[in-house]
Amino acid sequence: MSKVIVITGASSGIGALSARALADAGHTVYAGIRDTAGRNAPRLEEIKAYNEEHGTDLRGIELDVSSQDSSDAAIAAIVAEHGRLDAVIHNAGHMVSGPAEAFTPEEIDRVYDTNVLGTQRVNRAALPQLRKQGNGLVVWVSSSSTRGGVPPYLAPYFAAKAAMDAFAVSYAAELARFGVETSIIVPGSFTTGTNHFANGGRPSDQATVDEYEVKYPNLVEQVAARLGALAPADTSVSAVSDAIVAVVDAPAGKRPFRTHIDPANDGAEEVAAVADRIRVEFLTRIGLEDVLHPA
Ligand code: NDP
Repeated sequence: MSKVIVITGASSGIGALSARALADAGHTVYAGIRDTAGRNAPRLEEIKAYNEEHGTDLRGIELDVSSQDSSDAAIAAIVAEHGRLDAVIHNAGHMVSGPAEAFTPEEIDRVYDTNVLGTQRVNRAALPQLRKQGNGLVVWVSSSSTRGGVPPYLAPYFAAKAAMDAFAVSYAAELARFGVETSIIVPGSFTTGTNHFANGGRPSDQATVDEYEVKYPNLVEQVAARLGALAPADTSVSAVSDAIVAVVDAPAGKRPFRTHIDPANDGAEEVAAVADRIRVEFLTRIGLEDVLHPA
């Protein structure tokens, strides 16, 4: 059945690919994009052209996850048009790299704002509708860094993604009795095919960066290159959008709690399997096993 779906951060990379793949699968997809009147205006033209070519129902919508007003307005417009919202996909994110010490607290705050608080704004806009319906799906685009082996120099981003993943795990249990399902997508590093690495931010405190550069020369570049070298040559980020379509199209109540897509295999799947097993066992031990699955 065709679903009404909103995905954040759909101007590029995984978000843009997933929005198109979901539309190809027959869904009505709202591609949440910020600054559609300015920098990202061409993205709306691309969406229009995509629909003309593929006969899809893909719709660009202004959605800046850093703004509660923007998140509220986007969700309200979708619900006003369709009277329902079947799936929310938290994909917007931003990476920064550099020595942890060189980031000001305000810079780390902004990373946390986009990657973590952005999901909270969208949830506060959308979840009342999903709870009222008594059904729906929340998909979180997490990161294998939350559980796998990680290189240095990505601390604020990794910390934020770990926080986002922790929110997803708790939200899953809190939404289950409302019939709302949670599924976490766990990509490994994809250094090409998205703007993730190309648009990565850097700390402003150059003096501290320079001091670290003496002991860790060119580590930022080395990390990106070494992560890229780990992945098999035929790696494509479309594997992530394929996984998102598979989750959305799986039968309600039967969706996987986590899906790992990590061609380089940083070990996250192994660690997450233990953590997710403990979650099941612990919730069962405290008599809350019903919240493991949507009612
Ligand atoms: P991209 O940089 O291509 O995509 C990030 C998207 O997030 C862009 O559309 C960007 O919009 C958007 N965005 C950033 N800030 C905001 C905001 N305030 N409001 C709305 N949208 C915003 O990278 P990816 O496609 O790789 O990243 C998508 C997700 O996948 C992220 O959550 C990332 O953490 C996760 N991920 C990526 C991995 C990778 O290796 N590529 C690995 C693991 C997880 P704009 O164009 O306007 O900046």
